Amino acid sequence: MRLVLFCIKVFLLNLCILRECICSSTIDVLKELSPISSPSGFEDDMRNFLIKKWESICREVYIDNLGNVFFCMNCSVRDRTKPIVVVCVHMDEVGLVVKSITDDGFIRFEPLGGWLEIATILQKWIIKTSKGNVVGVSGFESAHVCNKYPSVPVKPMNKMFIDIGAKTKKEAEDMGIRPGLGIAPYQTFEIIGANSTRILAKALDDRIGLAVLDGVMNALKGKSLDVNLIVVCTVQEEVGMRGAKAIAGTIKPDIFISIDTSMSADFPLQVADPDGSGTKLGSGFSFFVFDGSMIPDQKLLEYFIDFANKNTMKYQYDAMQLYGHDASSLQQCFNGVAAINIGIPCRYTHSGNSIIDLEDAENTKKFLIALLSKIKKADIEHIVDKR
Ligand SMILES: [Zn+2]
Repeated sequence: MRLVLFCIKVFLLNLCILRECICSSTIDVLKELSPISSPSGFEDDMRNFLIKKWESICREVYIDNLGNVFFCMNCSVRDRTKPIVVVCVHMDEVGLVVKSITDDGFIRFEPLGGWLEIATILQKWIIKTSKGNVVGVSGFESAHVCNKYPSVPVKPMNKMFIDIGAKTKKEAEDMGIRPGLGIAPYQTFEIIGANSTRILAKALDDRIGLAVLDGVMNALKGKSLDVNLIVVCTVQEEVGMRGAKAIAGTIKPDIFISIDTSMSADFPLQVADPDGSGTKLGSGFSFFVFDGSMIPDQKLLEYFIDFANKNTMKYQYDAMQLYGHDASSLQQCFNGVAAINIGIPCRYTHSGNSIIDLEDAENTKKFLIALLSKIKKADIEHIVDKR
């Protein structure tokens, strides 16, 4: 009996150590990603970082003319000897773009991606210039003068401004500012929660996807697979999945898997979804069964659900109208591509501060590693055959 208890203790200890190791690698990657500014259309710093981090674990790295990066794990980008499975994560983040500079040195802006006006007020920002990063704050009137603050109408985005400390337009220009420059939120990275299992940071949409990819790629490097595995990191997803549309110019995927965040609905203030039917943090990744941009391939969805059940993976379902992702762009290319979107639950997306649960990231990683290791050519032939 004592021996059994000892064995159980050792097993649980190993499990804890293993979990800590896995989570800490995700945290390490997220920490590295966190300070990078990568608003849509200005993903150069993120792209360079990822290439430097991953090129040694891939067979080939290819960058297309739009800036999407193809990390070919076990093949070349032109290799058609095995079915092509793509796992796709977008490397841009919601941001802003400089529209104009006022005579007294303030920056007018337009959104890059979907923002609620309220989420852009009194936030710190980084403007990427050729002379380096410029920090500023989106200003608003003080409570001293707006004593009925909640009733003060939020200004439309084109009336807002960023204060970079310049006194004149000339000063702002001398700091490197010009219309058309990308602007990203400027935030800290925090590990939060009683057990340090949650991350509070900017741009977890879709950096949690990139952190998951890091684990998947490292687990599968050098492994013999029945498919050609290509990881694609796209540009400009947040402005209408523009980067993903160019993927078809380079490869023709047989299966396309997009990994993006899902909007969790597990906090008190549910305006759009008072029934709280969205996903929940800590309840596993989600299969998008429907969204405004795509109905997934039904055979692919069934295959994934079946695989998750057989391997006792923790998952949930997601369905929402106001949502789009890269898989929807590829689904309609060529003569159609079997595509699916997998979500990692995230609170407060499209703002400067979002929260994810590390356990969901680990579940997603575990699922992808198992699935990509085991999927056979015959499975893909079955999925794409619509008779
Ligand atoms: Zn996203």
